Amino acid sequence: MSTQDSNLEVYVLRIGHRPVRDHRVTTHVGLVARAFGARGLFLEERVEKSVIETLVRVCETWGGEFKVEIVSDPLRFIREWKRAGKVVHLTMYGLNIAEGNTIDLLRQSKDKLLVVVGGEKVPWEVYDLADFNLAIGNQPHSEVAALAVFLDRLFDGKELIRDFPGAKIKIIPSPKGKRVVKLKNSCRNSL
Ligand code: SAM
Repeated sequence: MSTQDSNLEVYVLRIGHRPVRDHRVTTHVGLVARAFGARGLFLEERVEKSVIETLVRVCETWGGEFKVEIVSDPLRFIREWKRAGKVVHLTMYGLNIAEGNTIDLLRQSKDKLLVVVGGEKVPWEVYDLADFNLAIGNQPHSEVAALAVFLDRLFDGKELIRDFPGAKIKIIPSPKGKRVVKLKNSCRNSL
C-alpha cells in the first residue's frame, strides 16, 4: 500500500500557532499528519521557518508525497475550501467520535477533507464554518493526540502499514534493536 492508496483526500490546517511556544507542537501536528495518512499541511504565516524545514527534511528522508503550504488568511482559506470540500474541526466541544455515525459518513466522503486543529483559542467562526465539529472524547487533551486518533479511525488503522514512496531510508521492523536500510530514492514535496 502506498501513502496515496486511500481514496480519501485529507489535508490538515493548523491554526492558533503561538511562535516559539508552539514550535514543537506544530511540528508534531505535521509529523502526525504525514505519518497517519494526510496528504498535506496548511500553516499560518507566523509559523517559524524551522518548523517547515523539519517537515520537509523528514519527507525527503522518509518518503511519501506530503505538501506543506502557508495560508495567509485561514478563515478565508476555510471558506474557499468549502466550495469543493468538507471541513472537519476537531474540538472537545463537538460530537463525540465514539458515538453516532460521523466517522462512517466521513469515510464514505467523495469530497476532499480539511481537518482543522486549533491552539489555545479557536475563533467562533471556525465552529460555524465547519461541516463537522468532532470531539475525540469530550475531555481536553491535545491537537496532536486528537489528530492521530481521528486519522487512525478515519483510515481504520490501514495508514500504519502504508509505503512511503521515494524514501531514502526504511525501517525493518524488529523485535529488538534498530534495523534501518538505505534506499536509492528521493521524494517529491512542495512548499
Ligand atoms: N478548548 C479547546 C478545544 O476546543 O478543544 C482545547 C484547546 S487544545 C490546547 C488545542 C486543540 O486541541 C483544540 O483546538 C483541538 O483542535 C484539539 N483538541 C483538544 N482536545 C480535543 C478533544 N477532546 N477532541 C478534539 N480535539 C481536541
